[in-house]
Amino acid sequence: QESCKFTGMVEDCCCDYETVSVLNEEVLHPLLQELVTTPFFRYFKAKLWCNCPFWPDDGMCQLRDCSVCECPENEFPETFRKPSNVLRKEDLMCQEGKPQAIVDRTLDKKVFRGWAEVDNPWTSDDETDNSEMTYVNLLLNPERYTGYTGPSARRIWDAIYSENCPRYASGEMCQEKKVLYKLISGLHASISVHIAADYLLDEATNTWGQNFDIMHDRVLRHPERVRNLYFAFLFVLRAVTKASDYLEQAEYDTGNHEDDLKTQSLLKQLLYNQKLRAACPLPFDEAKLWQGQSGPELKQQLQMHALMDCVGCEKCRLWGKLQVLGLGTALKILLSVEGDNHLNQSLQLQRNEVIALVNLLNRLSESVKLVHEMAPSANKIVGQV
Ligand code: FAD
Repeated sequence: QESCKFTGMVEDCCCDYETVSVLNEEVLHPLLQELVTTPFFRYFKAKLWCNCPFWPDDGMCQLRDCSVCECPENEFPETFRKPSNVLRKEDLMCQEGKPQAIVDRTLDKKVFRGWAEVDNPWTSDDETDNSEMTYVNLLLNPERYTGYTGPSARRIWDAIYSENCPRYASGEMCQEKKVLYKLISGLHASISVHIAADYLLDEATNTWGQNFDIMHDRVLRHPERVRNLYFAFLFVLRAVTKASDYLEQAEYDTGNHEDDLKTQSLLKQLLYNQKLRAACPLPFDEAKLWQGQSGPELKQQLQMHALMDCVGCEKCRLWGKLQVLGLGTALKILLSVEGDNHLNQSLQLQRNEVIALVNLLNRLSESVKLVHEMAPSANKIVGQV
């Protein structure tokens, strides 16, 4: 395809770029898009207020339950802008005031029965602590441009990269660390794609749409970022398919029988998809990578969840937490091997982990599709400049 110059195998994976793109377009993307709208997968439980352990002096994270973000001015209620143009810190409450920003705190506590409530090292949020956790309807809070930028955002990305890949710049690192770097970079690229695909183009008229310059600058002109996006997609896809039997038998009860049957049916179509199994039976071969001693140590090194409490924009924090948990869950599944590369029978996943895993896969799948769709225009626009 003109839009995708990548050929050959996705690095360290077992499928080629073209097959992945076609499979995604024809099979995975449509299935995932439907799956994430089901009641089981659309509600994510998260602790949304900032509790930043690293930069306590960061003014953005001092408010409990903070919806603080460096929003473009038009997101502030009119009254915040007047009479003075100087905004006080307290005025930086990002009360976006739009239906898309609504956090659903009313979900019935009785739904979602039957899931393990176990500690997991991939999140600092305790799913069972209802006083601090809140349900979010992900469909009402799309990941997109929020205006969160500047030193606060930059500092978090810098910390994530240096925490997980200390010697990345020197090019020296073990295979596992390289995997972690590529996963983070792929996730970062995916977030950038979503910002570019749903951008505030005109503040005055509140017009949203695709920003091809951002797409080109942050993603397309760095081919390794696109490669890392594909890598992360295949990595998470492998985790989902590896846990097929576990996921098939899990509990998807939300109290509505019809909805729950639909969830299970869609999930089965994804987990045991014939086209996927024929064209890309092993999206990623973890056996090659975890043979080294340091595989399990990755658990300690993934400190990203703590950094997510420092993200100074509620919606970004929400998606950051969800996707880091999803990545941790994928790693947990792929590290959970027993004997001849079989899934460890004692693997236990929390409901929130499964929701995060599937939603992360959907985000990555969307990004792969958007890269294809937007690349021709983005390249044309940049070529004309
Ligand atoms: P950044 O994206 O901040 O990148 C910083 C530096 O990292 C770059 O200069 C480059 O050197 C390097 N880099 C960039 N991309 C990659 C990559 N893929 N691989 C390797 N290195 C890379 N903003 C929103 O509008 N909406 C959101 O939903 C949102 N969610 C966020 C979630 C998290 C967890 C964080 C930390 C930030 C989020 N942001 C969000 C902010 C957004 O990611 C950017 O930080 C912001 O838009 C400023 O972008 P930038 O061009 O300065 O570069």
